[in-house]
Amino acid sequence: MRLRNIPGSREKIADSQLTIDRPEAYKGKWKEIFGNDHPIRIEIGCGKGQFICQLAKENPDINYIGIEKFSSVLIRAIDKIEETLDTDRPITNVRFLRLEAEIITDVFEKGEVDRVYLNFSDPWPKARHAKRRLPSKEFLWRYKIILKEEGRVEFKTDNRELFDFALEEVEAGGFKMIACTFDLHKDEEMNRGNIMTEYEERFSAKGNPICKYILQKKPEKP
Ligand code: SAM
Repeated sequence: MRLRNIPGSREKIADSQLTIDRPEAYKGKWKEIFGNDHPIRIEIGCGKGQFICQLAKENPDINYIGIEKFSSVLIRAIDKIEETLDTDRPITNVRFLRLEAEIITDVFEKGEVDRVYLNFSDPWPKARHAKRRLPSKEFLWRYKIILKEEGRVEFKTDNRELFDFALEEVEAGGFKMIACTFDLHKDEEMNRGNIMTEYEERFSAKGNPICKYILQKKPEKP
C-alpha cells in the first residue's frame, strides 16, 4: 500500500468519536461502547474501510470494529462513516482502533468476538517474517482466544503464495475449514453477497483470481 504521511491524521483519529483511545480499558466491555449486545465482528488491516463500512451499512444488527495500524489510511475509513452521521441514515455500528493486531488479546476478552475478517493481508514474503502474516498459526492462536465457540475467520487475497501458506496453518492454528475457493468471483455460492475491498477491486480488475477461505474455531479439548 502506498502510504503518505497525512499531516494531522493522528490528531484527527484521537479526536474522532469513532475511535477508541485506550482500547485495553474496554476488554470484556465492548458492549458498553455500542450500547447493545449485538455480535462483534472485527476486520484486521481494514485500510481505508470500504469493506467494513459497507458491511456495517448492510447489517445494522451487528457491531463492527476496524483495526488498522496506520493513521494515514485509517482517517479515510473514519471519514466514510462520519459522512453518514448528519444524514437520515447514519451508520452507528462501527468503531475503529489504530492498533497493531499483535496485541488483540489485550483488547478483547476470551470469546468476545463473533468473527474475524482478514482482507488482502500484507504477504511478508521472507520466511523469517512468517509469524507476522495475519493468517499465520501464531495469529490464529490469538483469534482462537478472542473468538466465541464456533466463531469464524474469513480471509481473502489474490496472493496465491500467501493463501497456500494460510491453508497449511489452519490445522495447527486450531481451526477447521468450512469453505474454500481459489476463484471467488466465479464461485456462485461463496461469492453471493460478497463485498469488495479496495484491494479486491484493484486486483480483480487486473484479472487476478481472488482466493477465500472460511474457518471455524475447533472446540477446546476437554
Ligand atoms: N483490507 C484492505 C483491502 O483489502 O483493501 C487493505 C489491504 S492492505 C494490503 C493491508 C492493510 O493491513 C494495510 O492498511 C496495513 O497497514 C494493515 N495491517 C497490516 N498488518 C497489520 C497489523 N499487524 N495490525 C493492523 N493493521 C495491519
